[in-house]
Amino acid sequence: MDWADELAARVIGPQVVNDSKTPSGTVHVGSLRGPVILDVITRALRASGHETTLLYGVDDLDPMDAQALLTPDAIDREMGRPLAHVPDPAGDCHASYARHFAGVFIDVFAGLGIHPDRYYWMSDIYPTGAMDPYLRMALDRAALVREIYRRVANVQHPDTWHPAGVICPNCGKVGTTIVTEWDGERVHYECRVDLVTWATGCGSSGWVSPFGGGAKLPWNLEWAAQWSLFGVTIEPCGKDLSTAGGSRDRSDAIAREVFEREPPLNVPYEFLNIAGKKMSTSKGLGAAAHTIAEVIPPEQLRFMFLRPRPNQAIEFDPEGTDAVPRLFDEFDRFAAATAGREVKGEISPGFEATFGYSLLDPGADVAAEAAAFRPAFAHLALLVQIPGVDVDARIEAEKGSPLTQGERSTLAERVAAARAWLETYAPERARLAVRHDVLPTEAAALEPDQQAFLAALADAVAATPPSGGDAWQTAIFAAAAGTDLPAGRAFAALYLAFLGRANGPRAGWLLASLAPAFVVGRLREGADAPAANVGGAA
Ligand SMILES: [Zn+2]
Ligand SMILES: [Zn+2]
Repeated sequence: MDWADELAARVIGPQVVNDSKTPSGTVHVGSLRGPVILDVITRALRASGHETTLLYGVDDLDPMDAQALLTPDAIDREMGRPLAHVPDPAGDCHASYARHFAGVFIDVFAGLGIHPDRYYWMSDIYPTGAMDPYLRMALDRAALVREIYRRVANVQHPDTWHPAGVICPNCGKVGTTIVTEWDGERVHYECRVDLVTWATGCGSSGWVSPFGGGAKLPWNLEWAAQWSLFGVTIEPCGKDLSTAGGSRDRSDAIAREVFEREPPLNVPYEFLNIAGKKMSTSKGLGAAAHTIAEVIPPEQLRFMFLRPRPNQAIEFDPEGTDAVPRLFDEFDRFAAATAGREVKGEISPGFEATFGYSLLDPGADVAAEAAAFRPAFAHLALLVQIPGVDVDARIEAEKGSPLTQGERSTLAERVAAARAWLETYAPERARLAVRHDVLPTEAAALEPDQQAFLAALADAVAATPPSGGDAWQTAIFAAAAGTDLPAGRAFAALYLAFLGRANGPRAGWLLASLAPAFVVGRLREGADAPAANVGGAA
């Protein structure tokens, strides 16, 4: 985490941190890495005394080029139009397709404690005329722009190509037009039927003014123009854009040579890989940013992105694995280390900063947060599945003193996360299912001393079943002690007999949640079952 503080120590004067995004559809969780990095850079800059502005742009004049979310009859009409002019497919509340999808993403930001000082929408900016000087400069220097594309990216535009995308005055599409001439005030555009494969132009052509929203800059130029317009000094960007000859290189060259301004400092960052694959915007199983944010609370999500340095890829595979519980455990380990407690295993240097920047509130008391009591996620994920358990009381008993208000909200957040995880990503083995019908076949692994314990417990509780988890827990310990069985093996025996597995939640509360007659019956079945080490699996 030292990287953000190092960066803050290296720059001079007021800083403008920027990022922008094309709102082309559902955004996947990997896309949150950029905004989290942006936010941490901003926090680090402010902490070291730099006056800092955080901007986030929505490139909503970009053409609609993904038909996945359009109805069949809308494809012909909408493909190629600016995203800001395509209707909201959800038809719920937003002015456009762009506003809908950017809105979903912005809500996730806010939930992660990321609050840009300003969001800007290119569909708002162009009509004000603020982009006109850059359109004029780019058109005047069209030959230079073509030469930069050739030199930096090996992209050969025809000699008549000009860097402006007219929004067709006839059909409203921007993805289908090309500008072939510039007379100093107007451009000559053609809306071609076959300019791109994904959208069909109307065939019109003519002279129009590119200013005041009539045209937009192609993306690489628009990016560089945003840097000039807003005075951007730092802009991290994903590895896919940071390759040699890639988008960032083109925009850097355009900034220097066309708009005559040094490009902002880049902080290239690696992807988040889900099950080894880069997460794309259009596909993915349960990996939409807003879906993951419903399962993983904000501080753990921030932590996931912040623990590795930006140049390290993140592997995350939540589907059917323990990745989510492990993420919580790691967070808790960083908290414990920050609080000065001994932790198992190695911990990366700068762990205090990583923990501090993972907190939602930039002004939080890091030491107090680190010292707070946090119940283990996996433990909660079992507790919430046992009927009748007062989770708050259980956790308070484990802490040994009343929970603070902050600890109470952490607990509530984790309980909600555990329930959401069980409903979505959790592997089958995490789901607790009492085998009501018959003794699980796994109970064949019971050994004679465990069976003796089960029989002793059945005898002890048959007449007067204990009431409540604590009373059951006491009875279990007493029966274990009475049969000289270590407590761990006693619990394992109960799990085998009731759950068909070797581990589980606190057994007392599990048994307390079940009908006493059933419990006694099952204890006897377990006690009487042919044991593996005597006669093999029955
Ligand atoms: Zn909407
Ligand atoms: Zn047209």
